[in-house]
Amino acid sequence: MKLEHYIGGRHVPSQSGATFTALDPTTNEPYLEVAAGGAADVDAAVAAAQKAFTDGPWSTMPAEQRAGTLRAVAAAIESRDEEIAALECRDTGLPITQARGQARRAAHNFRFFADVITTMGEDVYRVGSAQLNYVVRKPVGVAGLITPWNTPFMLETWKLAPALAAGCPVVLKPAEWSPASASLLPEIMEEAGLPEGVFNLVHGIGEDAGAALVAHPDVPVISFTGESGTGQTIMRNAASSLKTLSMELGGKSPLLVFADADLERALDAAVFGVFSLNGERCTASSRILVQDTVYEEFVARLAERAARVRVGAPGDPATELGALIHPEHYERVMEYVELGSREGARLVAGGSRPEHLTAGNFLAATVFADVAPHMRIFQEEIFGPVVSVTPFSTETEAVELANATRYGLAAYLWTNDLRRTHRLAQSIEAGMVWVNSQNVRDLRTPFGGVKASGVGREGGRHSIDVYTESHIVHLATEDLPIPRFGAA
Ligand code: NAD
Repeated sequence: MKLEHYIGGRHVPSQSGATFTALDPTTNEPYLEVAAGGAADVDAAVAAAQKAFTDGPWSTMPAEQRAGTLRAVAAAIESRDEEIAALECRDTGLPITQARGQARRAAHNFRFFADVITTMGEDVYRVGSAQLNYVVRKPVGVAGLITPWNTPFMLETWKLAPALAAGCPVVLKPAEWSPASASLLPEIMEEAGLPEGVFNLVHGIGEDAGAALVAHPDVPVISFTGESGTGQTIMRNAASSLKTLSMELGGKSPLLVFADADLERALDAAVFGVFSLNGERCTASSRILVQDTVYEEFVARLAERAARVRVGAPGDPATELGALIHPEHYERVMEYVELGSREGARLVAGGSRPEHLTAGNFLAATVFADVAPHMRIFQEEIFGPVVSVTPFSTETEAVELANATRYGLAAYLWTNDLRRTHRLAQSIEAGMVWVNSQNVRDLRTPFGGVKASGVGREGGRHSIDVYTESHIVHLATEDLPIPRFGAA
């Protein structure tokens, strides 16, 4: 199979002829050849998008009409959801049942933003009867979308849907480790009737194609999801062209379990929160903090459950934990596993490749107990099926531990004490807190993190804010006083 770019409505190879290969995570054999985009390809894609922006009709048509196309995109995704899930499963090693869920969510993203854009109003400010100030929202121009390899198709649509809803033509640069499912988008967009040049796709390595998109003077907004370090590089590189940046970055999210919580449900949430999506999840509950009076019991039950998490072929519907994306990432995760033992944490589950899976990037669900906050496995994002468990005794200590990393994406709080719930939910440094719940998304709410986990928010109207400029018109409805300089 060979993948090309999609620019101005045409499938094209790289102008340089360069390609790269994608690997099958269950064997690490190359299985896909992909066009490796460079600055010239990005220039062509931006020019096509810019032409679509200037010539219309996408950016100027009534919202209801754009929403109709977005709903058609959702339908086109739904009609291919098995194909999308199968491609994603092959490309990323995600278990097929979870890949199916992500494909459904991708369709939902388009329906949701079709609704947002048709129900959104614009603002009016009146100054008595003297002045009427109204705000119109204008699409900002060509949107550059740069996405990671975890749940690639869903995250691509999470940016595409609001950008298109807002009226922006787009250039999408998918992650080089997971290019496959994006290759279905051109066909989906054409079937839905999206005008030519509105959706453009450039594959390639981050430092080449991604960097060229970030540096491009005709791209006024970049929405990026990926590692915090990459986010820092992008901010530096975007400075010369003064862009709007939306940054959804890494995480090391705590899950706090108080002794009064429903421990069985807290355990379900802890296991699912860190081992679903292969642990390659920005909001993974990768640090579990447990009150000392129930600590040993919770660790023992967590270890027992982790040992029973079914690791296996991603395409097998019984599999709960598949193959990690890439041998380089696998090696990095395995280094953290070795580091955990060296740092003195207690390995109570997993820690190695399951015996029946001799090739590919497989790791058993891994639990380290007695993890101290100074340890690197407590501090750093591992982005794999590895969780650390740390005891606390008081509420104050729990908050200190929760806030003791540079990240602040999500937090999960398990307690049945109402007053403590509110106290803690507001003192934990995180963009999003879930109480007695797993990570259930409400797409209307602001999604994003604080500290090294992100800059800005997406979700609902917050996403539309990213892709539009507010344009204010001040209109005098009476004669307002004007100082008469030079009239005396
Ligand atoms: P990454 O930062 O390595 O790559 C993300 C994207 O950026 C890729 O498309 C890559 O090609 C591109 N890129 C790399 N260098 C670039 C550069 N110099 N200029 C422009 N683009 C560049 O991230 P990843 O390893 O693909 O994804 C995993 C990370 O993403 C984790 O840290 C995870 O927490 C984070 N993530 C965050 C969220 C969120 O919403 N906060 C969601 C999913 C993943």
